[in-house]
Amino acid sequence: MSFILAPDRAAAARSLAAALVPGQRVCLTTHVNPDGDGLGSEAGLAHLLRDRGIEAVITNPTPTPPRFQFLFEDIPGADRTGEAIRELRRADVIVVLDISDLGRLGMLSETVRTRGVPVACVDHHASEGVLPDGPRYLDAGAAATGELVFEIAVANGWTLTEEAARGLYVAILTDTGGFRFSNTRPRTLRVAAELLEAGVDPEQIYLEVYARAPEGRPRLFAEALQTLVVEPDFGLAWVTVPPGAIERLGVSSDDLEGVVEFPRSIEGVRMALLFRELSQGRVKVSLRSVGQVDVAAFAKGFGGGGHTKAAGLAVVGSLAEVQSTVLSAARAYLAANGKPPGRAPVDRPQSDSILPSK
Ligand code: 5GP
Ligand code: MN
Repeated sequence: MSFILAPDRAAAARSLAAALVPGQRVCLTTHVNPDGDGLGSEAGLAHLLRDRGIEAVITNPTPTPPRFQFLFEDIPGADRTGEAIRELRRADVIVVLDISDLGRLGMLSETVRTRGVPVACVDHHASEGVLPDGPRYLDAGAAATGELVFEIAVANGWTLTEEAARGLYVAILTDTGGFRFSNTRPRTLRVAAELLEAGVDPEQIYLEVYARAPEGRPRLFAEALQTLVVEPDFGLAWVTVPPGAIERLGVSSDDLEGVVEFPRSIEGVRMALLFRELSQGRVKVSLRSVGQVDVAAFAKGFGGGGHTKAAGLAVVGSLAEVQSTVLSAARAYLAANGKPPGRAPVDRPQSDSILPSK
């Protein structure tokens, strides 16, 4: 392995591993509507732990979308999301991945909060959340949580099998938008290179994740993109999922991944939004920015969070009400944080915490 971690990082990675002892039952969990980073990190860590005699199971608040189910196919019975609460009640340790916030655990929050076992956390979100005590491995400079699971493996001298590497590659691939977003740092590509060295087949992963969509996915895109509204004066653009379209087309909310990139791709747009109705009278808003606009800070004002350039929130109200409130706030926010639209300065990579050893 050709990586050296900074001493404090290595120490944090070793403390986290020290809480995971052979013979224990460990529950891995991530946020509601799990994405490729949450699920890929879980699959990678589940393999790493199982190789060390630790029985790791996956217990998420909402089901694994079909296109990510292949991640768990070689660990039969590991995805225990259907019995998550029962599994969490038997766990010796809980590991929360890709969130630091209890609230994002949905229906599992209360069980995790009151369980009384160590709750470890591996995460790359900027927003500080609240979780019960346990070891932490956090770094908002990482492109994906999968990058951090890789570092934990390296720091502890764990062998990275092809199966474990595959999960971590999916994590990094999806959270960087296929190595395109500004979170793609030199260290990200170094880790990805190591994962390929471990045997990951990038084309195979691409086909699994992006080329096995149901017919309804492009149809859903078509319907959502029909709703596009652009306000060039504000640098604002948004699309809305027509109510009921997901169910009618027989797809899932995971099939919306990427649709918000279309309003974001318009010249002059600084903030792009995607609105969709959730159950129980709530509306979810996905936010993306271009340039210097911090959408995580914007989302925080509505109880949401995320990253500087990709964030989200969910609020109670009708679609029309939430659109009106959030768009008014967005116009004011863009006016107050007004760099003129245009080409964003290039994000220079920060110094890396992992360096190639010669
Ligand atoms: P997406 O828009 O793809 O669902 O999420 C983009 C980013 O925003 C992710 O990093 C995700 O964790 C964060 N995010 C999305 N929805 C919410 C939310 O309701 N609350 C918080 N705190 N973060 C969210
Ligand atoms: Mn992530």
